[in-house]
Amino acid sequence: MPGTVTEPTQDKAEASDAAPSAKGKAAGKASGKDAKPSSAVARLAKMGLRRSVDLVLHLPMRYEDETTLMPIAEAIRRSGLGQPAQVEGEVISNEVTFRPRRQLVVKIADDSGELTLRFLNFYGSQTKQMEEGVRLRVRGEVRGGFFGAEMVHPTVRPVVPDEPLPDRLTPVYPATAGISQAYLRKAISGALARTPLPETLPAAVLQGPLAKLKLRPLAECLRLLHTPPPQESEAALADRSHPAWQRIKFDELLAQQISLRRAHEARREKNAPSMPRREDGLLTRFLQALPFRLTGAQQRVVEEIAADMTAQHPMHRLLQGDVGSGKTIVAALAACQAIDAGYQAAIMAPTEILAEQHYRKLSAWLEPLGVPVVWLAGSLKAREKREAVARVESGEARLAIGTHALIQDTVRFARLGLSVVDEQHRFGVAQRLALRGKAGSAEPAQPVQPGPDTVPHQLMMSATPIPRTLAMTYYADLDVSVIDELPPGRTPIVTRLVNDERRDEVIDRIHHAAAEGRQVYWVCPLIEESEALQLQTAVETYETLVAALPDLRVGLVHGRLPPAEKASVMDDFSANRLQVLVATTVIEVGVDVPNASLMVIEHAERFGLAQLHQLRGRVGRGTAESVCLLMYQAPLSPTARERLATMRETTDGFEIARRDLDIRGPGEFLGARQSGEAMLRFADLNTDAWLVEYAQEAAQMMLTRFPEAVETHLSRWLGGREHYLKA
Ligand code: ADP
Ligand code: MG
Repeated sequence: MPGTVTEPTQDKAEASDAAPSAKGKAAGKASGKDAKPSSAVARLAKMGLRRSVDLVLHLPMRYEDETTLMPIAEAIRRSGLGQPAQVEGEVISNEVTFRPRRQLVVKIADDSGELTLRFLNFYGSQTKQMEEGVRLRVRGEVRGGFFGAEMVHPTVRPVVPDEPLPDRLTPVYPATAGISQAYLRKAISGALARTPLPETLPAAVLQGPLAKLKLRPLAECLRLLHTPPPQESEAALADRSHPAWQRIKFDELLAQQISLRRAHEARREKNAPSMPRREDGLLTRFLQALPFRLTGAQQRVVEEIAADMTAQHPMHRLLQGDVGSGKTIVAALAACQAIDAGYQAAIMAPTEILAEQHYRKLSAWLEPLGVPVVWLAGSLKAREKREAVARVESGEARLAIGTHALIQDTVRFARLGLSVVDEQHRFGVAQRLALRGKAGSAEPAQPVQPGPDTVPHQLMMSATPIPRTLAMTYYADLDVSVIDELPPGRTPIVTRLVNDERRDEVIDRIHHAAAEGRQVYWVCPLIEESEALQLQTAVETYETLVAALPDLRVGLVHGRLPPAEKASVMDDFSANRLQVLVATTVIEVGVDVPNASLMVIEHAERFGLAQLHQLRGRVGRGTAESVCLLMYQAPLSPTARERLATMRETTDGFEIARRDLDIRGPGEFLGARQSGEAMLRFADLNTDAWLVEYAQEAAQMMLTRFPEAVETHLSRWLGGREHYLKA
């Protein structure tokens, strides 16, 4: 078979050229607006509309009802209801006026009354088209304007005598600039006429697990959605609850489930080094040297990971655990297992502060046990970097820790066996995959050398729990381990909301905490529009606090600080040489100073829930009672109020993620970087999550019993785009 295993077979009938039958000539001329047909075809291709079936699956975003005409007087009577109306009338005047700005004003009339049409942007050809005496069919919203009832920028065309009104709702398609609706409609209706759309769901599936859904035939649904008869419920078509939409959404989710399962199988067919745990090695010595015992939850996930790493196919596991649950040590133990088996391990973190903290902690743990650890970050001097890279390439360094500098092309591992990605939600999909692709690409330096098809095991870590519906869709190809227990001796964090105006009281509290030997974080507001402004605010806050707290030592850390300075400030804070640390969000993830017990977040209303939870997680790491003060500036927007209330009510990361999902919806929850092209076009996980389970069941049955139907279905829905869903 040519190409890779997952390449979909092309269905001949569905794969034909996407251009309208006459290569767009007729449509291009008719509307007079489209550029050359070939460029229209190129634009279609850019929208992902290459094959006929792509056009057939390009569904309307809304509909316009052009099936009825209204007398002008009635349209005027109904103005203000926000409903478009369609009228016909003869042009009685046509003039270009220049006040208050250049515009074309056309008046039309029928037996019942007169209506003004106003065009602020217009072509000379339009003026011609609407000459006095011409009969026009006009569609738009009537508004009460300064000079009486008018339509601004209505859709206008000359009435063709004896032409009947359309008997179907007119579809309006998503389009990019340069593609007119007329062209798209023509292309799509051509495609609909010539593309056979055989049922891809076997009868046994439709009548078996899917019987309850009573799915209608796809071809019928597509026809209905492209050209709905006017008696269909416009509301159900518009909000996509119509049974025809349900069928489309189901088929889309099915394609996604099938492709996720196949990605899972493809991974299991790949090789990874088997790294069984050794009882007499580094791992054991490390555990013995550890000053605390693992929690039950940590022990459990360590076992799960150890079992994965013993297998000969790559681990693809997400380790989920709330902030402070102790994920780092689990990563370190996995690294020990890889090193014991003669491989290298890499740990990548999203920020330099976090990566450096991992480096310090892990090298302090492991170097005394004889493990060479190397540090790799963008800020290293060229020579230091060359040296670090050389140690990674030679295989001398057994553990590499760093930022995304680790995945740069210049870095080649001698024999990478395990890659760990901390705070994985902060990285893009491509970056995670890049680290996975780094297994032993250099000359063999040691006897243990992964083969050419070997990929390292991958462990991703995140404090952001994934809601169930997302886990079932985007993350279906991921095994998940959960640390659901915090290390002993933690006291819960008390969260208070404080109006900005009570800043003095906040400063008193800082004093108080410091007097008791505790330390304080002060997080400066997030200013999304301007990094410079954010920096300036941080500097000002720092100066204010220095002045207000003359007896305390206050430090400042932000993203623009040279790495060495950043590291030295963090060092001073870790060692309690600074009592107060003013910071921008650079401390958002992973920073671990157990003696810090007071967290002040300024303008908390500007942060997202996940971010607030991460920030708050910087305290409550020791035995002292910790407090988080969320300072806000009134008035609060309803969503900001909801977010802050959530923070006050719970410290449970899972509950916070659930509410976050409620407030924002899954698309935003995932963030553009996570979802990328994998976002579903039609199914919406807010409203259609219930369909996912059916899709899973159908996918399972089709994969085991109907491999040919699987191919046709995937080819129809994904064409060559299957890889988008593999992240
Ligand atoms: P996170 O899961 O947020 O990455 P860390 O790995 O930074 O959490 O751990 C938080 C703190 O808890 C660290 O100081 C770590 O040393 C400590 N810790 C981890 N596991 C245990 C344990 N079993 N007992 C006591 N302290 C622990
Ligand atoms: Mg961490």
